[in-house]
Amino acid sequence: MTVKLKTKITLGVVFLFTLLLLVGGTGFFYLNKTITEQHDILKDNYETIDYTRNMLLALDSSHEIKEFEKNLAGQEKNITEKGEGAATSLLRDHFNSYKIHPDSPELVNQLRHDINRIMQINLDAIIDKNKQLGQKADDATFIIALLLTLCALVGFSFVFNFPGYIADPIAKLTKGIKAIAGKEYGQRIHLTRKDEFGEMAAAFNQMAEELDRYEHSNLAKILFEKQRAETVINSLKDASIGIDKNGTVLFANPLALQLLSLAEIDVVGKNVSLLEKQNDLFRFLLSEESNKPFKIVLDGKEQFFSKETADISNTEGTIGNLIVLKNITPYKALDVAKTNFIATVSHELKTPLASSDFSLKLLEDERVGPLNTEQKELVQHLKTDNLRLLKVLSELLDLSQVESGKILLHITEVDPRIPVQRAIETVTAAAQQKQAVIESSFSENLPACKGDEEKIAWVLINFLTNAIKYSPERGKILVHVSNEDDTLVFSVADQGKGIATEYLPRIFERFYQVPGTEKTGTGLGLSISKEFIEAMGGTTGVKSDMNEGSRFYFSLPVA
Ligand code: ADP
Repeated sequence: MTVKLKTKITLGVVFLFTLLLLVGGTGFFYLNKTITEQHDILKDNYETIDYTRNMLLALDSSHEIKEFEKNLAGQEKNITEKGEGAATSLLRDHFNSYKIHPDSPELVNQLRHDINRIMQINLDAIIDKNKQLGQKADDATFIIALLLTLCALVGFSFVFNFPGYIADPIAKLTKGIKAIAGKEYGQRIHLTRKDEFGEMAAAFNQMAEELDRYEHSNLAKILFEKQRAETVINSLKDASIGIDKNGTVLFANPLALQLLSLAEIDVVGKNVSLLEKQNDLFRFLLSEESNKPFKIVLDGKEQFFSKETADISNTEGTIGNLIVLKNITPYKALDVAKTNFIATVSHELKTPLASSDFSLKLLEDERVGPLNTEQKELVQHLKTDNLRLLKVLSELLDLSQVESGKILLHITEVDPRIPVQRAIETVTAAAQQKQAVIESSFSENLPACKGDEEKIAWVLINFLTNAIKYSPERGKILVHVSNEDDTLVFSVADQGKGIATEYLPRIFERFYQVPGTEKTGTGLGLSISKEFIEAMGGTTGVKSDMNEGSRFYFSLPVA
């Protein structure tokens, strides 16, 4: 049978209360009994002694018959002891005789003897009753002491056991809850009790079991997802490395490990700060330099790679990033073939174009034969087209030079005024056609810069040609050279239509032309300019806004 904790506590308290009542009741009972018995002794025996004493006194004075009579009557009504009745009736008989013969000394003696007899019976009874009362008091003391000992034992056991009885399961439960909070779902509470604590322990164990099962099912799911992700990562054709936001490597697929020449155990779980110290390629991958295609010798063969990075994000934002190394060796070979092809074709086309230009010049000569107006116009058109073609071809040749890494640089100390002058002279005819005004200005005390004068002039010509091309008629173009820190900054500013901010980041890309631009150019000029300047150790840039004009600039180190 299940006894509830509440019932147990009630029963315990009732039991203690009962013991208290029992002790109190027993004490009260014995006290009351003693008082009653004492009262009875007083009533039964002391009254008799009083009567007998009064009767003796009455006998001593012969005039007190009435007094004797009164006390004898009282005694006759107070016969309580064994033999007292017979002694009293004898006294009555002798008293009656005494009343007839009041002067008989024998009768007086007899009366005295009877009275003493009654007195003795009562005194004996008092002693006897006292003895009995003492015995009863001892019995009561013993019973009360027994009850008190029992009470004390039960009380002590209650005091010692009860707090533990309540507190122990609570302590066990607290320990269990703490363990669960610490994700120790294997924790159980062992209580065999069948009360509320037992029910509580069973409920706790059931909860822990459910949590355990939930955790394990989740763990299995997570493990499955991890395995799946690992399979996907490992089967990637590109070398991939995942790094969390604290810089710890989360994964690296076999291809990445092969490139790094490291084992998985030496990479995964390690911090990049440690890895970049130990591994050159890792250090290179974390640097800006690796944003351009780079070369790695793998199994004795040169392989080209390009690096791509992507953020790994979840709902809370970016939690790390992914580095992917794409093997671009096949494309590189194709690119080289394309570059060679362009170089060959451009070169081959240049000679017949130059000779056709020469033939056109001959045609224009009156000595060869006069041309009518229409023929002259046709020859003029042909010359313009020829010039354009020659320009395109020379840009393609420059591009192939850049692409094959074969830029021939003749680096010297260059006075900035010279290439500026040359460039302005070269574009004067084109500027005149559009009635554009080109002005040049130089900061004071300009030092020389380090670079290839030809290439600097080439870039300036490109900037100026664009400025003329994309400016309205009678536009003003300013070429300025200033000294900033350890560099010379060459800039070409125009008052043209400008470039929308969204297109600026792509303006130096190959073949890029701002949407809506007249397709007269190739979109190569700015990209070649950038390559030339960077080859000379400088940087290029642009500041522009719609209808605000543009300012193209490049910087070169001071000599
Ligand atoms: P293109 O042969 O087309 O001029 P570039 O590489 O020299 O090739 O220029 C790329 C594009 O940048 C141009 O097509 C044009 O849209 C834009 N651009 C260059 N210079 C200017 C300029 N000064 N003002 C406005 N747009 C310009």
